[in-house]
Amino acid sequence: MIRTRSLTKRFGDLTAVDDLDLDVRDGDVYGFLGANGSGKTTTVRMLLGLVLATSGDIELLGESMPASRGSVLPRVGALVEGPGAYAHLTGRANLIAFDAAGAGAMKRSGRSARVTDALEQVGLAPGDRRPVRTYSLGMRQRLGLAAALLRTPRLLVLDEPTNGLDPQGIREIRELLLRLNAAGTTIFLSSHLLGEIEQMCTRVGVLDRGRMVLQDDVATLVAPTGRVVVHTPQIDWACELLGHRVESLGPGRIVVNSTDPAEINALLVGAGLSVSEIGPLRISLEDVVLRASESA
Ligand code: ATP
Repeated sequence: MIRTRSLTKRFGDLTAVDDLDLDVRDGDVYGFLGANGSGKTTTVRMLLGLVLATSGDIELLGESMPASRGSVLPRVGALVEGPGAYAHLTGRANLIAFDAAGAGAMKRSGRSARVTDALEQVGLAPGDRRPVRTYSLGMRQRLGLAAALLRTPRLLVLDEPTNGLDPQGIREIRELLLRLNAAGTTIFLSSHLLGEIEQMCTRVGVLDRGRMVLQDDVATLVAPTGRVVVHTPQIDWACELLGHRVESLGPGRIVVNSTDPAEINALLVGAGLSVSEIGPLRISLEDVVLRASESA
């Protein structure tokens, strides 16, 4: 759905995006993670043809960008930093105007229903008569998302979509994006919040000072490690029972070389030991990301 090869953007002496190979597949919820200033917005703007790359290639929906922007962009819903809107118009009027505008203009019939549906999906009241200038940042963000949804896109490209939202709003948007993904929309979203990525993404790319330091499926990155972690108040006894299989010890916890928590549990409990918690040891996505950034 999105592929870049050696994508690079320089602003004078500054290399904002450096030799980037993005690979976003059909059906992904792809989280594009990076600290402030790491080059996320610049990348999103290049993908959408809003700024020209210094070098490298971009493919969106299998077509070359920005050359094919006329045929590609109507099938892509986009939300880029600071969604633009006419401040003196209502949210509804803004969406009506957007629906009618540009190369991807939609048919007039059904416009009102489309707009109502998009507003409802993002949690804005379709009958709200206030102008956008009175909207909070979170409401503007939702309106931008509603605009991105109008064309029932196959691909959504969202730059920090939960910016300005409170925890409840973040959850609503997350649930909306997951629903859209389940219905077949591929989603690419940038964020500087690892928690946000961890909770909804199937694939992650990590940008560090313009360079990609990690790109993989989340399930692969946080796969079980071939170790089982056991919590028990009877550490010494557990070590005796497990012998050389014990890899390390912590307060109230041991790590055992095994891929089978049930077998370890049966062995310990069968001997009369009390096990308070047991399961496969996984590396957290946070650890994976930190390690990748440190070794970059
Ligand atoms: P944030 O999360 O703060 O939006 P980001 O990861 O999106 O950060 P970018 O906005 O892409 O990062 O910026 C990457 C780097 O490029 C920054 O150092 C920024 O100052 C610089 N930059 C971005 N746009 C321009 C521009 N038009 N001219 C000069 N430098 C720019």
